Amino acid sequence: MSTKATVEKLVSLCKRRGLVFQSSEIYGGIGGFWDYGPLGVELKNNIKQAWWKAVVQERDDVVGQDAAIVMNPTVWRASGHLDTFADPMVDCKECKKRFRADALVGEVAASAHGHEAAAEVTRCPECGGELTEPRMFNLMFKTYVGAVEDDASVAYLRPETAQGIFVNFANVLTATRRKLPLGIAQIGKAFRNEITPGNFIFRDREFDQMEIEYFVKPGTDEQWHQHWVEERYNWYLRLGMRKENVRVRQLDRDELAHYAKDTYEVEYLFPMGWSELEGIANRTDFDLRRHAEFSGRDLEYFDEETGEHIVPFVIEPSAGVDRLFMAFLMDAYDEEEVRGETRVILRLHKDLAPIKVAVLPLSRQEKLVPPAREVWALVRKHWMSQYDDAQSIGRRYRRQDEVGTPLCVTVDFDTLEDQAVTIRERDSMEQVRVPIAGLVAALRERLEE
Ligand code: ATP
Repeated sequence: MSTKATVEKLVSLCKRRGLVFQSSEIYGGIGGFWDYGPLGVELKNNIKQAWWKAVVQERDDVVGQDAAIVMNPTVWRASGHLDTFADPMVDCKECKKRFRADALVGEVAASAHGHEAAAEVTRCPECGGELTEPRMFNLMFKTYVGAVEDDASVAYLRPETAQGIFVNFANVLTATRRKLPLGIAQIGKAFRNEITPGNFIFRDREFDQMEIEYFVKPGTDEQWHQHWVEERYNWYLRLGMRKENVRVRQLDRDELAHYAKDTYEVEYLFPMGWSELEGIANRTDFDLRRHAEFSGRDLEYFDEETGEHIVPFVIEPSAGVDRLFMAFLMDAYDEEEVRGETRVILRLHKDLAPIKVAVLPLSRQEKLVPPAREVWALVRKHWMSQYDDAQSIGRRYRRQDEVGTPLCVTVDFDTLEDQAVTIRERDSMEQVRVPIAGLVAALRERLEE
């Protein structure tokens, strides 16, 4: 994180510049739900694209899929979510506020869905009132499918995308005729009725996950686990995260989920402390075995090399888009003094920047409008871009710096004579003059290489 970034500054920038809004704000909002504005949706899409490119497009052993959010409810019985996907909840008898009991011990440190720690806190952190005994609260959102609202029509919004992959394992294997190791990747919405959502978009009730289930032969699982931990950690660094703000932590035995043999977390140094961005778990053969048992279907893999039927082990890198969104913003946020003024700048990696190029006519003078519009039309075909002619050129540069636009193209009066424009670079503020005929190539060199 930049030393200058605070959650307050980020929330304010996100609202002001159309990155993130509180959901249904005009009605007072709703806790744990957020909307992404015109620039936010671009950043979010760019994070997803960078992930997909690294884990699907550039690899020869991972394919993608996109499963439905609502699934047959037996999925959640088999996965264990109906029985165990619960957090301990306590209420304050005085002020009636509700808390996640394990989180009271340390909001950030508490990541296990268990109630071991709950006994340690007995007083309300807000008013000092007495707390109730912890009760387990299932985090899955319930709904009904079809016209009748009875027990037979109950369904759930998925709390993770992973199960949509496990139940399709056999389909994907047959359809792609692949051999192990094989990864299946998916990006999609997940829903958790978190007891205490908060820290801006860090903990939400609706969020996007990017998950890979990487199926391997038993016995090779530990080696593949290490591979994915390194791959995923390096992905954050490649996208410009500062090394001092990202770390990998191996979970202690007592922090592991019931199905996991071993888990690592990629953590980011948020203002509230080191917190999980991504979990990379060795889920063993737990899920496939459970789904085979509950569905009665054969989910084994025939290993041609040994002539044996095996149940693959699974390595699962699982990241939350919204958390990454917040971490990338915090990390990119910077303020610097330029000629006696504070310049707010998002030093986002060019692949993540919501707008790649801004086209700025030097003034609103009529003569500049046609060439500036022509330049914008040229650029728009290749990259997300903006046209801005309001206020002084200096203020317009600042507006682009503040949302991380890597390049500005300025059209001035000389353009009318020399058919050239100025490219201004965000971080160095350096300017170079290039002919319009070579503009796309010059931008491509800076944005794509
Ligand atoms: P936590 O301990 O923070 O509740 P978790 O260990 O339950 O998280 P996982 O089930 O491992 O989280 O989910 C994988 C990833 O999904 C997390 O690393 C995180 O990036 C994201 N994620 C999980 N819950 C939320 C949430 N409520 N809001 C936003 N992102 C989330």
